[in-house]
Amino acid sequence: MTEPSSVERDRMVQKQLRARGIRSESVLDAMGQVPREWFLPPGQQHLAYRDQAVPLSCGQTVSQPYMVAVMTEALQLRPADRVLEVGTGSGYQTAVLSRLAAEVFTVERIPELAHEAEAILQELGHANVHFLVGDGTLGWPDEAPFDAILVTAGAPDAPSSLKSQLAEDGGRLVVPVGDRYLQELVRITRHGNNFDSEDLLACRFVPLLGAEGWGGSEAG
Ligand code: SAM
Repeated sequence: MTEPSSVERDRMVQKQLRARGIRSESVLDAMGQVPREWFLPPGQQHLAYRDQAVPLSCGQTVSQPYMVAVMTEALQLRPADRVLEVGTGSGYQTAVLSRLAAEVFTVERIPELAHEAEAILQELGHANVHFLVGDGTLGWPDEAPFDAILVTAGAPDAPSSLKSQLAEDGGRLVVPVGDRYLQELVRITRHGNNFDSEDLLACRFVPLLGAEGWGGSEAG
């Protein structure tokens, strides 16, 4: 008999997240609530609670649960925070953020992915998420400043537009920075005009394409 997804999800939280050092109870709780199987392509639901990224349409991926947890914990979210996410993808990470922050603004460059994610999040009742199709390397200037910004694709450098859209009193930007194949997850914290940078861990993401990402002309 197939196990209920809540049992598999609890096991994922204990074995893949808590046992590997994720300490934030609010992050563990949020990841224990979001049904990851909803965000996977048809026929892939059996992979929902495995310790791996899962291929999505348009050559993109749904990130590994552990990586989602590390990035979310690194954002140090508080319930009143307004968060910008660059790279909606399937919407799984968006759903986790929406359980931890007051409002989530998410930008995706591929319309098909953005629309699918929006439909799923609406069906699951995540009413505090706002969607935009476009180049997220430029942020969402009309909604700035943000208490936290998460980039879910690998960048050649932290986009300056995103740094400038951080709240001046401790806004956090978490972004994978490196070459096209291997990056370091970096957290940049803003204090006025000072930006403190911390390296968190090595990671591998699909490229962030766009004006302040890789190959502006490919980003079309
Ligand atoms: N966190 C997502 C999830 O849980 O499904 C996975 C995100 S996937 C690793 C990275 C996403 O970033 C892709 O959907 C890709 O299309 C998107 N992306 C890449 N460059 C972008 C840009 N400039 N603006 C917005 N989205 C971008």
